[in-house]
Amino acid sequence: MESRASLSILALLLGFSQAFYLTQPEEEDITTRILSINKGFSEPLLEGDILLKRSRTAVICTNNNCYWKKSSNGLVEVPYILSSDFSSSDKTVIANAMATFHNKTCIRFISRTNQSDYLNIQGKNGCFSNVGKAGGAQVVSLSRLGCMQHGIVQHELNHALGFYHEHVRSDRDKYIAINWDNVDSVMKSNFNLKNTNNLNTPYDYSSVMHYGRTAFSINGLDTITPIPNPNVMIGQRNELSNIDILRINTLYSC
Ligand SMILES: [Zn+2]
Repeated sequence: MESRASLSILALLLGFSQAFYLTQPEEEDITTRILSINKGFSEPLLEGDILLKRSRTAVICTNNNCYWKKSSNGLVEVPYILSSDFSSSDKTVIANAMATFHNKTCIRFISRTNQSDYLNIQGKNGCFSNVGKAGGAQVVSLSRLGCMQHGIVQHELNHALGFYHEHVRSDRDKYIAINWDNVDSVMKSNFNLKNTNNLNTPYDYSSVMHYGRTAFSINGLDTITPIPNPNVMIGQRNELSNIDILRINTLYSC
């Protein structure tokens, strides 16, 4: 009964968020912006904005070492330092992006004191992050030229918490079709399925982690088509979806 009730709530949330995104005007989605900002970046980036480190390939990790630890007070503290290059308005964008996590989940981004594992948030050349806790100092790059947007900052921070892109999750073939003929041949690996932990949450077209329909297109035509309804909006424009938030709370047992 209880799980049925929570399923109904989930369905409501999903329905609401889909309706919301269907009514949004056409504009560039977050991941499209991230991909265009990162174009030509010299470091190898998986799926356009994931920093490869210690050859980790999946969000499912042994001993939960790639997740941030929960304190006895029930909060999950993620220490960070900020580059002094950021302006005060940059810092406001970052703080506002973090505030959503603080208000809706048990994640707390805190200024680092002496913790050994932490985010080193820098304005490097591109928007990118590791997936999950990498150990030691790990860079989250938020270029001052392009990445200083609420949803982009949340997208990269969500990678650092352990979340991959929605379009590679293990059951995606039931929800989207990949139009391989439209994918740049050297970019095909960016659509490889991952063995993800989906946390019993529905596929979320409105996730801030979902790529837009023309990601890595070689000819401007769609590389991702939602099924069965091809008109569902994909690629987020604003911020963490309700299901993104639900997943954080589930993964970290908030
Ligand atoms: Zn990403």
